[in-house]
Formats: sequence, C-alpha cells, structure tokens
Amino acid sequence: MLFNIQRYSLHDGPGIRTTVFLKGCPLKCWWCHNPEGISFKQELIVHHKKCIGCGSCAQVCAYNAISLGRSINSVDRKRCVLCLKCAEECPAAAIEPAGARMTAEQVFHEAAKDKVFFDQSGGGVTISGGEPLFQPEFLYTLILNLKKAGISVAVDTAGYARWSDLALVSPLTDLFLFDLKLMDGRLSRKYTGRSNKLVLENLNKLARAHGNIQIRIPLIPGINDDQDNLESIGRHVRDLGLKQASIHPYHHTGVAKYEKIGCSYKLPQIEAPVPEAINRAKDCLEQYGLTIILSEGD
Ligand code: SF4
Ligand code: SF4
Repeated sequence: MLFNIQRYSLHDGPGIRTTVFLKGCPLKCWWCHNPEGISFKQELIVHHKKCIGCGSCAQVCAYNAISLGRSINSVDRKRCVLCLKCAEECPAAAIEPAGARMTAEQVFHEAAKDKVFFDQSGGGVTISGGEPLFQPEFLYTLILNLKKAGISVAVDTAGYARWSDLALVSPLTDLFLFDLKLMDGRLSRKYTGRSNKLVLENLNKLARAHGNIQIRIPLIPGINDDQDNLESIGRHVRDLGLKQASIHPYHHTGVAKYEKIGCSYKLPQIEAPVPEAINRAKDCLEQYGLTIILSEGD
C-alpha cells in the first residue's frame, strides 16, 4: 500500500532520487507533514478549493456519505465504504484516493525508469513512508529487485519496527536515514504516541550492523529544539560512532492536508524556526563531532 512515488527528489539521500512512500505508520507525530501516510488503509482526499459545486459526487454516493452546500462540505468517513465512485465522477478532480496497492515488481519497474538519472547523479531509490518497515515482505522484495538492477537504495525509517525486519533489509540497504526526535521517553510518548525505547534499541543494534546511517532530526520549535534534547541526541549519536546527521526545520506545508483527509491537526500554531535557531541547533550538534546537513526541503 503506497501513497506516492516522487521523482527527482533531492532531499532524501544523495543525488537525484525517486522516493517511494509506503502507507501506514505506528507513530503519530504531532508535526507529521504526510498525514495521508499514517493510516494503513486507503483514504479519500477532498480538495475543497477545486470543487465546482456540481453535486455529482453526492448523487453517485449510495451511502449518503457526502454533505454538500454550495460546494462539497465534508465526507462522513464512518459511512464511506471507499467505493471511489465519487472520485471517478468528479469532473474537477476534487476527490481522489490516497493509497493504492502495487506489487513490489510494479514499483520496481516504475522506479527503474529513472536509472539513467541515478547513474549520472550518484542517486538511487529511497523507500520512505509512513514506516516502510511495516510492510517488510514488500520492502525486502523491492530492495532485492533494485539491487539486482544495480540501483542504490536508501531506507528512511522512524525506527519503530521489529528488529528482525530491520536486520533482514540491512545487508541490502546502502544508506539508512534514521529519524531521531526526542530522547526523553515521556515526551516521545506524548508527541509521537510511542515510547522511544524500541527506536533507541534498534538504532543501537543497527549502528553495530551497518556502516552508513544518517540521523534525521526534525526541528520542532518548543517540542524538541531545547538544548537538553539536542545535546542528548548529539551525545548518543557520537557514542554510537555515527558521523552524520541532518536537521529538518519544521514547516507548515502539511497542515492543509489534515482537513483534506478529515483529521484534526494537533500541533498548536507554531512558526517555522528562524535561521538563528537552526544554526544554534547545528552548532550544538557539531560539538559532538557530527557533520550536519541542513535540509531545505522535506
Ligand atoms: S468513496 Fe464511495 S462511499 Fe465513500 S463518499 Fe465516495 S461514493 Fe460515497
Ligand atoms: S463532484 Fe467534485 S466538483 Fe462536483 S460537487 Fe463533488 S467534489 Fe465538487
């Protein structure tokens, strides 16, 4: 179950990349900017601004799940059975499904079309999500196919997964992008929905098993940008012998998506971090001998 295949991506590892987004994540980070990647099931996305008010969606819905005013108001997600008839009928493409089932072979053939760009740029395929390790058979088969075709593979994980699944894909994976958000277990539970115990255990084991891990730190003002948390991340990463981390400053681009899939956004209104705060975080992490990449996207 995927929700996107993004070509020419420049922020998910080295070179030009194709990023495959698998649907479903066990965490519920308050700041998640891909909320359509959280549920393991297909969902409806409603683009209210595109609606021209023709009423076709409500007419075709046999479950009375669509409420219409001058334009589409809402979809009753409890009534909706995801038949997708409304999306098929909508002349304005204002309704679309998030999530589609594809086989690992189908995704491989899509991604392999860009091999010439990977070869020229030192890029490859990044498998992200959601949490890619929650579809382990698919992930393993896709990586195996990509490696057989000589394509470099990165796995972007939040680390909350079975160690046996990580261990299975580790020998085939060229680069791990491993999220580290909060070192305090209580705050982790509050802001991501899960304790960080399993994440840290997996990171510790992976650091012993794999030579190429880049830590990814989302920088969320007021939640994980304090000195204590950053120092604790820096110390932990240094002690594992890892050398590289990237900082991903919070941005608002995902906020509008929550309404489109019928969810509420939990994070109170916060501003994106100012350059001084980003540089402070970078300086703090560099104290621990880490090379820090500042991400402009993602
Ligand atoms: S997907 Fe089907 S059931 Fe759901 S709102 Fe659209 S037409 Fe109705
Ligand atoms: S079919 Fe599309 S354009 Fe027409 S009312 Fe429904 S959402 Fe709006």
